[in-house]
Amino acid sequence: MLYRRLGRTGLQLSALSFGAWVTFGRQVGRAQARELLALAHDRGVNFFDNAETYNNGVAEQLMGDVLADLRFPRDSYCVSSKVFFGAVDKPLPTQRGLSRKHVIEACQQALTRLRVDHLDLYFCHRPDPDTPIAETVGAMDTLVHQGKVLYWGTSEWPAEAIHEAHRVAREHHLVAPVVEQPQYNLLHRERVEVEYAPLYETYGMGTTIWSPLASGLLSGKYSDGVPAGSRLTQPGYEWLRESVLGAGDQRVARVRALQPIADALGVTLAQLAIAWCLRNPHVSTVMLGASRPEQLAQNLDALEVLPRLDAAIAERMQRAVDAG
Ligand code: NDP
Repeated sequence: MLYRRLGRTGLQLSALSFGAWVTFGRQVGRAQARELLALAHDRGVNFFDNAETYNNGVAEQLMGDVLADLRFPRDSYCVSSKVFFGAVDKPLPTQRGLSRKHVIEACQQALTRLRVDHLDLYFCHRPDPDTPIAETVGAMDTLVHQGKVLYWGTSEWPAEAIHEAHRVAREHHLVAPVVEQPQYNLLHRERVEVEYAPLYETYGMGTTIWSPLASGLLSGKYSDGVPAGSRLTQPGYEWLRESVLGAGDQRVARVRALQPIADALGVTLAQLAIAWCLRNPHVSTVMLGASRPEQLAQNLDALEVLPRLDAAIAERMQRAVDAG
């Protein structure tokens, strides 16, 4: 495994990490979750990502049960939660958002579900237009001083709001965010590469990037239709289908254009797409998702592809998806 510093912090995360979205508590039950987490930890993964909203808290509960069962030393891994969407269907106004009340209560609930006494990383899952940023920064500062959170960050906040969080933190001597959690993959580059560019230099922020395979699309699994049991067939995730496949499935053609490059290297499309994300030095960790151990094992081997993915090949990949 390769380890990278989370921005300018001293925390070193495995360059490939593992998250629970969609899968835990839905496609993946206890036995499979155990197999996946054991495999990841065994291969050097030291960061497991979760959120209050993933299957309404069930994903955190399952991860917590399995982590306790596997008895990994607590100092051998990091675990996260994210606050904003709430952990129930139709949350009341106090059960969602980034108010001091919900940020603090959601943290407590995540600690209980995950069976840990601190979260290594705690993210504001989206910006909250109904809460002043200063209130949220203050709540995070409280949690850090209580020892319940070690590092905090944002997820999919506009750069402007992140600047504001840093301004408030500086002015009031509060703990500032050190990490952003954005989507980043071959088909979704702008925010990480352009909008956030000043954040890395100015504040030393790191990134834990999500959907490196665009929900599986970049593995090529949707190139000949939508396989039964895959993410895009999950009840309740119909909304994801068009954003992943694109109107008229045009994103599928862009992915097909990558296949000859993967074939020439003798690697899978998934490995190629994950290694491409790792080339970006501002990516602290690529968060993998997997519904089956074989997928995770294959994706973890992307690390071996990284040294072979030079600038010329990366350039060809970008041209292929842009033209496809
Ligand atoms: P990916 O884009 O890698 O998608 C993962 C899914 O793709 C798997 O569950 C599986 O779905 C399919 N897949 C993975 N590998 C393969 C393979 N080798 N061959 C075929 N199919 C494969 O990552 P995620 O979208 O899951 O994102 C990773 C993590 O990021 C999440 O678990 C979550 O922790 C975090 N995240 C954060 C968000 C945020 O807003 N902050 C938003 C989304 C995710 P299947 O088998 O069902 O088809």
